[in-house]
Amino acid sequence: MDLLQQLFLPFESTQIALIPLEGLQQQDSLVWAATQNGLFTVRSAYHCIRDWEEQGVASSSESSSDVAWNRLWQLKIAPRYAHFVWRIIKGIVPTRQKLWNRGVRCPFSCPRCVQISESVEHVLRDCPWTRCVWFASPLGFTWPLEVEQSMSAWACSLHLSAPTEVAELFAVICYHIWKARNLLCFEEKGSSIQGVVGAAIGNLYEYQRLQQMSREKRELGSRDKPQQRWQVPVPGSITINVDAAGRNANRVAHELSRFSLAHDDNEWIGVTPHCIQ
Ligand SMILES: [Zn+2]
Repeated sequence: MDLLQQLFLPFESTQIALIPLEGLQQQDSLVWAATQNGLFTVRSAYHCIRDWEEQGVASSSESSSDVAWNRLWQLKIAPRYAHFVWRIIKGIVPTRQKLWNRGVRCPFSCPRCVQISESVEHVLRDCPWTRCVWFASPLGFTWPLEVEQSMSAWACSLHLSAPTEVAELFAVICYHIWKARNLLCFEEKGSSIQGVVGAAIGNLYEYQRLQQMSREKRELGSRDKPQQRWQVPVPGSITINVDAAGRNANRVAHELSRFSLAHDDNEWIGVTPHCIQ
């Protein structure tokens, strides 16, 4: 339950915790999915590898997913937006349809248009209200009524090929559409289309502005600080480095001395900790 609360929003973790676990009373065990009896055989592994190589399924999907993941975390957006897009790509957004498939007895249809089952495609793309949000956004997206592509494939391909600004706007708008959906589902609060678009853009630009300010502050601080670097002692000289730390009555001082005959011939002559009362 702690892990659920760390990874999901409070109402989501509550819904997930409602998933019944009947029939799962026995101990977990490792099962090899490529044989009927669940036991591993070298022969079945050989056939699996051959099938993967022929179809190119394993390597291609894994690599595009990895690229999308890397690209996603390079965007200048708050982590919660990137995390939400990752859940879309992985197909783990807890829509009503998804919860029903998991055995949770909750309403099944879209809370806005009521007649259609609430899939992730419907909530984030196909619902008439959602279409208006996309069209009103700076992206101005519009598409035919019937779209075959899954939300996961769309999000993945967009993060692989679209310009950074488009990917960033896509992420924040998806998140705010989902947030508006949750407000309607759990608090019965409606959201205006302009309000959702405005909140998405406002949050994105505010986050980027704060990040920029913080970056400039760091750069300014490092420029003002004098750069001190240790150097090899000049031949015939001794370099002594000292440092001290302390708290209340207990203080410790270190002295580190190095004597140099030449640049390539210097030796340590003292490393001395002192306790000072
Ligand atoms: Zn709808």
